[in-house]
Amino acid sequence: MPKPTATITVNAKDKKVERIKRFLELSDYEVKVIVDPKATDTLVTVGTTPLKNPTLAQIAAALDLLLPRKRSAYDLVVIGGGPAGLAAAINARSLYDLTTLVIEQYAPGGTAATAVNQIDNYLGFDEGIAAEDLCHRAVLQAKKFGAEWLPSYSVSAFKPSDDPKTTKHEITATNPDDPNAPVSVTASLVLLATGLVPRKLTQPTAAAFEDEGVYYYALPADAEGVTAKDTILVIGGGDSAGRAALMFSAKGAKVVMLIRKTLTTDMLKVISDQITADKNITVVEGTEAKEFKAATGPNAKLTVTTTKSASYTVAAVYALISADPRTKWIEDAGITVVRKDPADPAGLVATGLDIFYDDIRNGTFDSKKHANELKHLTDMGTNKPGVFAAGDVRFRAERRIATAAGEGTEAALSMHNFLKANPKVLDAEVGRAAPAYYLA
Ligand SMILES: Cc1cc2nc3c(=O)[nH]c(=O)nc-3n(C[C@H](O)[C@H](O)[C@H](O)COP(=O)(O)OP(=O)(O)OC[C@H]3O[C@@H](n4cnc5c(N)ncnc54)[C@H](O)[C@@H]3O)c2cc1C
Repeated sequence: MPKPTATITVNAKDKKVERIKRFLELSDYEVKVIVDPKATDTLVTVGTTPLKNPTLAQIAAALDLLLPRKRSAYDLVVIGGGPAGLAAAINARSLYDLTTLVIEQYAPGGTAATAVNQIDNYLGFDEGIAAEDLCHRAVLQAKKFGAEWLPSYSVSAFKPSDDPKTTKHEITATNPDDPNAPVSVTASLVLLATGLVPRKLTQPTAAAFEDEGVYYYALPADAEGVTAKDTILVIGGGDSAGRAALMFSAKGAKVVMLIRKTLTTDMLKVISDQITADKNITVVEGTEAKEFKAATGPNAKLTVTTTKSASYTVAAVYALISADPRTKWIEDAGITVVRKDPADPAGLVATGLDIFYDDIRNGTFDSKKHANELKHLTDMGTNKPGVFAAGDVRFRAERRIATAAGEGTEAALSMHNFLKANPKVLDAEVGRAAPAYYLA
């Protein structure tokens, strides 16, 4: 089925237009940008009525993707609208009838919606499915079951309750388009499903080009306008970088890959083999980008010099160099995160036995001292009662779409078990009778 279209009319392209365009693309729209030097406003048309200088929240409402927020107290607030958060919301609504709000700082679907590749191993899709299509279906499914949505709001403050009998967690979210009007809600249960944030280039000259030549995601839409005349620089040696290189090469572009180690150090063999066989892709190993400068001319946006003194004039740079959790606000709220694991980035949320990670590793864990906490421990539960974590942000997550969705589903089940043990939590908070099975 063809995608619905959206049109953005602007007098000049800038970062704000780019942000709106990506938001629409991630919401499964085909986007046309019309540059009209006479235009005095940014007009975004998703249906028939143009929206004048809209915020992302207004565009989201016009798209009618999920149900708008209706209340200020919920059974469950899900923070993060990726596969983990959406799976939890779908299960919490469809199986357990929990009033559910999903707060998403950008577009629904999370990182998965930006994954460049077709997913061939997702259960039930015998011909494979593009990650963005999978996420879009999940959004429609969450809406069908009545999950509500607060899009383009980022949770910045969180006050979890310590009392399992009367959990009333307080959550505040802000919108960069309207920073003076934060939204505050309460919830009996909270799911932290905030995923990871792409790591940015540290070279000072790269910052000026962010979203204007230097990108930290490679979307299928990015490859649409690419031609054989373009050279694309991909920085990174992981699977994502490899897949991006293959995606641009498939459009005929010349691709240069800058890899700090070697092609095979961190990449799946099935991807590195395709890259080795691809004549459009040049792999430069043992090197890093050093400096970024503007370039002029057709198909030239910037020139990048490397630590090996080579220089490349390219149409765009895609830096896909790992990702980190952004969990300071979660840690500040008293949720335990793991800081010292040698294999994982610091700051992933601890669940289950990992809430005692440091003690267990140091050999000082005392099970008698923690007997009460151990009694209530669940795989997806954090150290605060009624607060759960799932997906990439969780320590020990496998960081795949299918596992994130599985963890979201498992988190919903853990919440159900928590509610069975603490049935008063629900009706006290939302002001309606809890479903009978929680009180049984
Ligand atoms: C380029 C790339 C390619 C990939 N390819 C594959 C693949 O082929 N197969 C595969 O299985 N996996 C792939 N992955 C991994 C996969 O995308 C992740 O494992 C999966 O998306 C994790 O889901 P999640 O719900 O935990 O987090 P995410 O998908 O990251 O979603 C988290 C959401 O939380 C939101 N958020 C964060 N902080 C806040 C806040 N404070 N307030 C509100 N919202 C917030 C974010 O905006 C985001 O939408 C790929 C990842 C990348 C980057």
